Amino acid sequence: MSGRVLLTGGAGYIGSHTCVELVEAGFEVVILDNFSNARRDVIDRLEVLTGAPVICHEADVLDRDALDRVFAAHDFDAVVHFAGKKAVGESVAQPLDYFHTNCTGFSNLLQAMDRAGVRRVVFSSTATVYGKPEVLPYPEDHPLRPESPYAANKLVCENLLRQVKAADDRWSYGILRYFNPAGAHPSALIGEDPNDIPNNLMPYIAKVATGELPCLRVFGDDYDTPDGTGVRDYIHVVDLARGHVQSLKLLIGQDQSHIVNLSTGQGFSVLDMLRAYERACGKELPYEVVGRRAGDLAAFWGDPSRARDLLGFETTRDLDDMCATSWAWVSRRKNS
Ligand code: UDP
Repeated sequence: MSGRVLLTGGAGYIGSHTCVELVEAGFEVVILDNFSNARRDVIDRLEVLTGAPVICHEADVLDRDALDRVFAAHDFDAVVHFAGKKAVGESVAQPLDYFHTNCTGFSNLLQAMDRAGVRRVVFSSTATVYGKPEVLPYPEDHPLRPESPYAANKLVCENLLRQVKAADDRWSYGILRYFNPAGAHPSALIGEDPNDIPNNLMPYIAKVATGELPCLRVFGDDYDTPDGTGVRDYIHVVDLARGHVQSLKLLIGQDQSHIVNLSTGQGFSVLDMLRAYERACGKELPYEVVGRRAGDLAAFWGDPSRARDLLGFETTRDLDDMCATSWAWVSRRKNS
C-alpha cells in the first residue's frame, strides 16, 4: 500500500520507529516536530535507516499558520499524531500546559486537516485512560476513568475524534491505546532518549546499566502481585510501530475507524524487568526498594484480541529482545 503520511512528533521515541516501519511498508513520510523532547540528529539517523531523504518541518502543533503551511506544501492521505507531552507526574504539576499542548494542539491539527481536506488520523492514546481495573486484561470497552491530567487529555482527544466523526462521516480515525513501550530499533540507531532523569522504568534501568544513575528505586514491593512489585504490559517499540502501519492500512484501505489496545496481553513485574536487563547487559544492577509512587496502580495488562482480529496485529518481540535492543542503543549512544 502507498500513501503520503504526516507524522507529528515523528522525531520522538515512538514516532521515529513508526517512520521506519511506514517507509519499509511503502509509505512516504513527512515529519513535523518542534524538537522539544527529541534530538535533531534523529532525522539524519532516519535517513540512514530508510536510505532516503526524510522531509522534516520544525514546527509546533500550537502554531496554526505553520500547520496550514505544511498541509499546503504536501498532499497527505493521512496523519499520525504523536506530538504531545507525556510525563504523568509533570501533568499533575502543570495541568494547564498539558491541556494546551495535548488538547488545543490536537484540535488545531484537526482543524488544519479539515481545511486541507485530509480526514484520516491515527491517534496515540494510552492505557491510562482506563484507570483502576475492573477486569483484567483491560478490554477496549472497559469504563474510562482517567486519573491524571495526562490521561484525561488523551480521553478529551478520543472524545473529540468521536464527535468530529459523528458530525462529518468523511472522517475516519484509529485510536491506539498504548501499553508500556520499551526497547529500541535493532540497528541501535534510534531509541528512547529522555532529556532529563527518566520517569519510566526501562529508560531508568538503562541509565543504571550505563552508570549514569547509581541505583534503581523500586517503587513498592508490597503490592498484591506475585513478587510484590508493580506489573505492566511491556511492548517492544518496533511491534508498537508496526501497529500504526496496520491501523493506517485499515483507514486508507477500508475507511474503518477503530479503537484498539496495542499490548502483548502479558504482565511483567519491576523485578522481572530488572532481571531481564541484567541478562542483556551481563552484570548485576543495584536497586533499593522505596515507598510506592503516588498514583501508581498495582498491575495492569491489555487484551490484545481486538487488535489481532481487526488489524492482524501480533507482537513478535519478547522482554529479552526489549532489553537487548535497549542496551545496544544506550551503549552505542554513550560511546558516540
Ligand atoms: N517503577 C519503579 N521505579 C522507577 C520507575 C518505575 O519501580 O524508577 C515502577 C512503577 O512503580 C511501575 C512500573 O515500574 O510499577 C512501570 O512504571 P512506568 O513509569 O514505566 O509506567 P506506568 O506506571 O506509567 O505504567
